[in-house]
Amino acid sequence: MPQSADKVLDHNKLFHEPEYKEMLKNKRAKYEAGAPAPQVTEILDWTKSWEYREKNLAREALVINPAKACQPLGAVFAAAGYEGTMSFVHGSQGCVAYYRSHLSRHFKEPASAVSSSMTEDAAVFGGLVNMVDGLANTYALYEPKMIAVSTTCMAEVIGDDLNSFIQQAKQKESVPADFDVPFAHTPAFVGSHVDGYDNMQKGILTHFWAEAERKEDDKINIIPGFDGFAVGNIRELNRILGEMGVDYTILSDVSDVYDTPSDGDFRMYAGGTRLDDVKAAVNAKATVSMQQYCTKRTLEFCEKKGQQIAAFHYPMGVVGTDEFLMKMSELSGKEIPDSLTLERGRLVDAMADSQAYLHGKTYAIYGDPDFVYAMARFVMETGGEPTHCLATNGGKEWAEKMKALLDSSPFGAGCQVWAGKDLWHLRSILATEPTDLLIGNSYGKYLERDLSIPLIRLTFPIFDRHHHHRFPTWGYQGGLNVLVKILDTVFDKLDTETGTLGETDISFDLTR
Ligand code: SF4
Repeated sequence: MPQSADKVLDHNKLFHEPEYKEMLKNKRAKYEAGAPAPQVTEILDWTKSWEYREKNLAREALVINPAKACQPLGAVFAAAGYEGTMSFVHGSQGCVAYYRSHLSRHFKEPASAVSSSMTEDAAVFGGLVNMVDGLANTYALYEPKMIAVSTTCMAEVIGDDLNSFIQQAKQKESVPADFDVPFAHTPAFVGSHVDGYDNMQKGILTHFWAEAERKEDDKINIIPGFDGFAVGNIRELNRILGEMGVDYTILSDVSDVYDTPSDGDFRMYAGGTRLDDVKAAVNAKATVSMQQYCTKRTLEFCEKKGQQIAAFHYPMGVVGTDEFLMKMSELSGKEIPDSLTLERGRLVDAMADSQAYLHGKTYAIYGDPDFVYAMARFVMETGGEPTHCLATNGGKEWAEKMKALLDSSPFGAGCQVWAGKDLWHLRSILATEPTDLLIGNSYGKYLERDLSIPLIRLTFPIFDRHHHHRFPTWGYQGGLNVLVKILDTVFDKLDTETGTLGETDISFDLTR
């Protein structure tokens, strides 16, 4: 066999060795009953036709490759942003392995979360025993400062009551009576990870604030929302608000836990919003959400507590950042400093420098509702034309908001908004109405391969490229990073298209 200890081949090389090729060919012939190659090609071509598109878009009872995850993933992400907090997901182990691996594959960091390991008996008799034992084990083994409980499908289908279970577990001394165990029901069969994020944030704030007497101070709470670029973005937020001199508390700061150093020490818990700060945050004059669709219920709760509220759609690019800074200035009474105005001018300058390559480029954009809104707005600022905007977890209200945004610019004319559609729908849409570029997450690589539309990875999850999440996409500096990523792809495409010797290379320019 070609594999040897002297020269270990990775699978991408190993499986192309003659022995493996032969073995895979025989396996296909003997066991897979594969259709003849011409028929495969014929069907493949048909799946790119208008006829197939119509059938595909009429699909009702099946979702294929949705651009969303289930609620508990969002809950685990939100809980990870609090000091010393262990996520405890009441349900089955496999689900929690999925959340951990999803987060680890994106951030390239360990992601801690435990489950109550419900199996068949718990599904029949209820998961109280699992909760009692699980909380005791989590408290003893992982020594957290807080345990944040959410649920998988299984616990929700049988109707386990978290509040009652946690009270009973405390009575049985699984954890001390005064130990912080906030919770959120996160039924995975409705909504998506953005709702799970919202529910867990609300659960944690309810735990600390429900009985608290509020004495208003001048601070402002900021909720970042579910964000694959949180490491870079929260640090950028700290820098911007620091320059403005705003007094603020970030509610769920994951920037350190998903970016720990390699120095010989494993940190199960790193950074996060201090629990004392969460308690004090009830007194803030306002709570600001960076992503409206991640915080609807949480903001309602904050408003009921007497705070002012404001929400943005992932502040990115020029107008998105302008709106955010102006609101922070209005709420805090602090001026926007010249240093930030200068950054704004530099971003506008960079966009103008590259206008010739950006103007008129068409884009398909997919992801979470706030991200797609922000991305479409920034693309239009660069003179680009969003042509298809898709959010599997976007609803009717999001679609209307998108249409209003697109109507506000000539570059948005003709854009189609696809709420509730999945990436198999998007394949049909792009096969029949292609765009120059595709913006989304790593799952878009299959669309890129099938349809030859270059993919720009700008949202969660990004599994097959490394470390982009360490650089911000928010603010003017973040806008510059996004701009460079778009331009690099535009230039790579242009070089490929003009690279054939003696044919197209009259435009294979050194200077672009
Ligand atoms: S959808 Fe349900 S079964 Fe699947 S990972 Fe989420 S909670 Fe688990």
